[in-house]
Amino acid sequence: MSQKNIAGYMCSLCKKVFDAGDELYTCPEDGGNLDVLLDYDEINSCCSPQTIMDSRESSLWRYLPLLPVSDPGGQDTPIHQAGFTPTYALDGLKKELGINNFWLKDESRNPTASFKDRASAVVVARALEIKADVVVTASTGNAGAALAGMSAAVGQKAVIFAPKTAPQAKIAQLLVFGARVILVDGNYDQAFDLTIEAAKEFGWYCRNTGFNPFTAEGKKTAAFEIWEQVIKPNKLNKPLSVFIPVGDGNIISGIHKGFKDLAALGWLDIFPRLFGVQTVGSAAIANAFFAGNETIIPVEASTIADSISVDLPRDGVRAVRAVTQTDGAYITVEDNDSLKAIAELGRFGVFAEPAGATAFAGFKKALKTGLVHGDDPILVLNTGSGLKDVRAAMQAVHEAPVIKPTLDALKTFLKG
Ligand SMILES: *Cc1c(COP(=O)(O)O)cnc(C)c1O
Ligand SMILES: [Zn+2]
Repeated sequence: MSQKNIAGYMCSLCKKVFDAGDELYTCPEDGGNLDVLLDYDEINSCCSPQTIMDSRESSLWRYLPLLPVSDPGGQDTPIHQAGFTPTYALDGLKKELGINNFWLKDESRNPTASFKDRASAVVVARALEIKADVVVTASTGNAGAALAGMSAAVGQKAVIFAPKTAPQAKIAQLLVFGARVILVDGNYDQAFDLTIEAAKEFGWYCRNTGFNPFTAEGKKTAAFEIWEQVIKPNKLNKPLSVFIPVGDGNIISGIHKGFKDLAALGWLDIFPRLFGVQTVGSAAIANAFFAGNETIIPVEASTIADSISVDLPRDGVRAVRAVTQTDGAYITVEDNDSLKAIAELGRFGVFAEPAGATAFAGFKKALKTGLVHGDDPILVLNTGSGLKDVRAAMQAVHEAPVIKPTLDALKTFLKG
């Protein structure tokens, strides 16, 4: 079995190191999340920031030397369109907020329209390497759509468990991509536990977020892009503050890992500050941060931002550390703030789903409360497309008027 670039795994709790040849999910001793260890000397002997920046691959596969998997193939398929998303400098928004250095990274531009394509592309590459017959995941919708889409691109079989209450558009994606879709009459956490049991029972390869160590390896590629698209070209002399919506905590811990990789390689001068944003109704990780510890106490999650609605976050400890170790913070916002943020970003041409807009709502609160300042360089992630949850989007805007199709009716309407 090929074990490209993997020097081993380290448990984030007990620090025990496991052999690269072991097919592991979480630490067998204490259930801690595993970090994939890379051989930084070997990476530095084969490439430099310049070789990466000279790559003509415009997907996350441009970072292949820093990834623990081989290229999955499918050069001309959607799996080679995951990542390398655009980063916008929205001048109108900057003016409105009175800030100078602001970027929005738009993950809705991924092939299945969310950040989750990064994790799923890398997990599918791993599945091909270990010749897994079936890949399975639990999902609130996006992780499943991403796994189904990336699997379809390379002919990998996929099984998806999602709550039956998932937004229709996400369920439609799962079905259209041809995955075997099983809806659970329960919440995401229950689907999560069932998926692990099923994977064990049937020998399926399990992608579950915050369980499979390769999801964070995919998600870290967003940090590489932020480094390549914003930090390097703008020669920032202050840490970039990055705002990330948090559910299970795997995006923020993956992005932290990406910046740690760059620092370990000697390619990053100023470490960014990471800010996690949760909604008040699903704030188990923020609660631990506010309590000043790493103890994740489950909540009964209830929020309009379905992608970050999680009772027991599966990557909570690393997600707390991602902010405490980078001089960041957690911020909680109300559902209404997330809805408002959908309309605010929309006016500048970016259509976010509620979870995606939550990061922007958190940034605005951080600006108001003085956690960041107008002259700090800021980057906000939009993690998913507004088309995934049109019902929520309609709550963020006024209804359109309906008139008779005549000029008279229009005139009357415009006068009134
Ligand atoms: C999954 C997801 C998140 C949160 O990621 P976690 O790893 O669960 O913290 C945020 N936004 C969107 C759109 C997502 O799909
Ligand atoms: Zn351990």
